[in-house]
Amino acid sequence: MATNRTFTMIKPDAVANGHTGAILDDIIKGGFKIVALKYTSLSDAKAGEFYAVHAERPFYKDLVSFMSSGPIVAAILEKENAIEDFRTLIGATDPAKADVGTIRNKYAKSIDANAVHGSDSDENAQIEGNFFFSAFERF
Ligand code: ATP
Ligand code: MG
Repeated sequence: MATNRTFTMIKPDAVANGHTGAILDDIIKGGFKIVALKYTSLSDAKAGEFYAVHAERPFYKDLVSFMSSGPIVAAILEKENAIEDFRTLIGATDPAKADVGTIRNKYAKSIDANAVHGSDSDENAQIEGNFFFSAFERF
């Protein structure tokens, strides 16, 4: 069942480079409503759990150490067709291939430090939102 919700993280590179406010502004101007928001960080173990689906990929270890390298911002976003529209707003995984004007085009430097995460399905959006937020922290 479509939930009209997606989950995002502003990754450690974008937070460290001071892009948090600009990215949240792009998200809001893109028509998304923030229904949960948290400034936090992932331990190595928690990052490994979050990206467990990529455990067999060659970049997994680097991805996990990068995602636990500094603070992140986690959020649940609401919009009609949220999953697909958010992935359009952020652009391709590799910022060099991301359309001009997308968040990754504007704020990401490389495929591993690519500024933001966006859920790839309704099911994963639910799982990922539950990973970070209790029922009392979402609206
Ligand atoms: P995310 O899940 O973070 O939104 P995505 O869905 O666009 O990104 P995935 O295929 O799910 O891409 O990969 C998860 C993350 O792993 C990517 O965001 C990227 O940081 C990293 N990654 C993916 N492919 C590569 C690669 N070939 N080399 C290095 N890092 C990669
Ligand atoms: Mg993904």
